[in-house]
Amino acid sequence: MNFSGNFAHIASVDIAALQQRVQELPEQQWLGEAFRQQRYEVHRDTQTIHLVFDPDFRHTHPTRLPVLQEFEPFIRPCLKIVADHFDDSPKGWELFDEHGMGYFVRANLVRLKSGGAITEHTDNNFSLVHSHRIHLPIITHEQVDFTVGGETINMKEGELYEINNRRMHSVQNAGPADRVHLILDYVIPGEKCCCGEKLHPLTACNPQACEETDRLQIECVCHPVL
Ligand SMILES: [Zn+2]
Ligand SMILES: [Zn+2]
Repeated sequence: MNFSGNFAHIASVDIAALQQRVQELPEQQWLGEAFRQQRYEVHRDTQTIHLVFDPDFRHTHPTRLPVLQEFEPFIRPCLKIVADHFDDSPKGWELFDEHGMGYFVRANLVRLKSGGAITEHTDNNFSLVHSHRIHLPIITHEQVDFTVGGETINMKEGELYEINNRRMHSVQNAGPADRVHLILDYVIPGEKCCCGEKLHPLTACNPQACEETDRLQIECVCHPVL
């Protein structure tokens, strides 16, 4: 989702138990899913464990994968903080009566190899444009740089951020260890993308109405980088 910023800090979360659980993951579990790194060139240095995910990037009725059960107790506090953050926002209140509860459309654990990078890109499909992309660093260190819209920060473990995935973003892991983030996509049903508010004010966002926006390979000018 586009917004007028690069990063929005949401909260600090106690991740001790989750971190321990992730550290205990066998290598096989990381290597088991080759889908994402094969499909996207920008993700060649990553391995992903999908918890809630559909290869077609659908926007409703997400698939909760069996492995989610294993992690659910550890990520539940974080999910609650994120859900409350959006449900209790002005947008959440405005849209709830007509469109119902918000939901997580994707949840994935993503490991970025030591020395690896995710090259600069914007996220370009309907669901990624119309959901809020949240990062929770679980294992990281000082030499991991996250750049969004030309601004670079070092996200600390347990610090929850929304990132503006409609601006150019990239990640560099120049450190000696792998980095692991929990990445969540949260949907506020009925919420329009920035361009939708302007281009089709009377029509709800949908893949046809927003096709032009979704395909933009450059940043739209709705929230100019100041
Ligand atoms: Zn839209
Ligand atoms: Zn826009």
